[in-house]
Amino acid sequence: MTQKRVAVIGAGPSGLAQLRAFQSAAQKGAEIPEIVCFEKQDNWGGLWNYTWRTGLDENGEPVHCSMYRYLWSNGPKEGLEFADYSFEEHFGKQIASYPPRAVLFDYIEGRVLKADVRKWIRFNSVIRWVQYNEDAGNFTVTVHDHSKDSTYSEDFDHVIVASGHFSTPNVPFYEGFDTFNGRVLHAHDFRDAREFKNKDILILGSSYSAEDIGSQCWKYGCKSVTVAYRNAPMGFDWPDNWAEVPALVKVDGRTAYFKDGSSREVDAIILCTGYKHFFNFLPDDLRLKTANRLAAADLYKGVAWVHNPKLFYLGMQDQWFTFNMFDAQAWWVRDAIMGKLDIPGEQAMLADVKEREAREEASDDAKYAIKYQGDYVQELIDETDYPSFDVDGACEAFYQWKKHKSENIMGFRNNCYKSVITGTMAPVHHTPWKDALDDTMPVYLQN
Ligand code: FAD
Ligand code: NAP
Repeated sequence: MTQKRVAVIGAGPSGLAQLRAFQSAAQKGAEIPEIVCFEKQDNWGGLWNYTWRTGLDENGEPVHCSMYRYLWSNGPKEGLEFADYSFEEHFGKQIASYPPRAVLFDYIEGRVLKADVRKWIRFNSVIRWVQYNEDAGNFTVTVHDHSKDSTYSEDFDHVIVASGHFSTPNVPFYEGFDTFNGRVLHAHDFRDAREFKNKDILILGSSYSAEDIGSQCWKYGCKSVTVAYRNAPMGFDWPDNWAEVPALVKVDGRTAYFKDGSSREVDAIILCTGYKHFFNFLPDDLRLKTANRLAAADLYKGVAWVHNPKLFYLGMQDQWFTFNMFDAQAWWVRDAIMGKLDIPGEQAMLADVKEREAREEASDDAKYAIKYQGDYVQELIDETDYPSFDVDGACEAFYQWKKHKSENIMGFRNNCYKSVITGTMAPVHHTPWKDALDDTMPVYLQN
């Protein structure tokens, strides 16, 4: 029999999890398919591959990165640790619980360097189109290789979409934006909080980006933060120069008017209004259309495309769990492709999706949602040989994180938690988050 060919689109944490999953099977002596991973950037890491660029990249492609210079993990690292590669193994010691971006990039990279899977990745390679061939029962994938400036097509038995969903910004329009006398930008284009030093900033949105970009600007010396919420305020005990106000109605000059009739003068408007699932390389019959939720639409077990389960998606859910969930998904997809797991008929798959949706919708409590996603991770792990770990313990770290945020929103990153992989307690970081203005890796890792 000829060797199967598998295309992985994207070498971010999800795509890299897929490469590691196949490499781990090969390491145990299994015959694995030929794996080709296509990555549009010139390096791996996905959103964690930081760039100062915004807009278009050096090849004229949309910049993928939505991260910013001083970003630190927004959840405890004990909730995302790889079960097969601990922080202690990577850094040679236990480190504090909320690492900055560069430290997490280093950790992600450490595992795949050890696994030696870089050779499976074609960098600077953008997927332009994927088409299913009914007759042959395979996919034709069309790629633009920017290193050679050439476009070519190859056939694959399976396609795994791991291109992320926090990169294409959702950009609303409000009256007066086009004549605002200051800068209007989306969170996707936010890079350096020092740009807003001594400025009055207005943030739209009331989720993670709103909270964290506001906190960044506060930490690096902005004059005031005003957050306009559409549905509900975040409700933390904010610093004195921070206010939450009802939705924006319009701006006029530099004045922003809100739904309660109040108004404020602002220097910049940052749209923390979320992202779109966006796959311009997929035709209608293969393209996932879903809200950013825990039970993503049309994905059996959260990964197999119900209308053609030779196609898989990784990491398309809203995320409490990240790296270890991508691993659980990748191990499951590997075993489905290698014929170790059965995929049922379309009706059974649709019923699986409906059941997941109903269970998600049963409560809007955050603790319920964390446990829901933890149970999902556990479900997938139970069906594969991904190293078992204490998922409930990881949920516990998230519950503690929520509690620490409500106690002190500017101080929650000073807390530490116990690793569910090694059982070691993280040390207290040497500098409180609000004072740690230099967050480069050598400084962060000092004892
Ligand atoms: P991505 O990281 O988005 O990677 C997708 C990859 O696919 C990219 O390398 C991209 O270049 C490539 N790609 C896209 N389109 C194509 C194409 N057409 N052809 C070829 N390649 C393509 N998670 C945490 O655990 N902790 C955090 O603190 C945290 N902070 C975050 C902060 C921000 C601002 C955002 C937006 C997200 C954050 N996340 C965080 C969540 C983040 O989604 C995950 O950590 C993780 O990056 C998702 O991995 P992924 O591989 O699914 O997607
Ligand atoms: P999000 O969670 O999808 O939230 C989008 C927000 O935008 C919601 O509050 C929504 O309001 C609001 N919104 C949408 N359309 C709007 C409109 N037209 N007008 C006004 N408000 C509008 O997106 P996100 O906050 O960007 O988070 C995305 C991901 O990035 C998350 O996984 C998060 O963990 C990650 N992240 C991490 C960090 C970090 O610190 N490491 C920082 C930032 C982001 P409603 O609630 O009313 O719908």
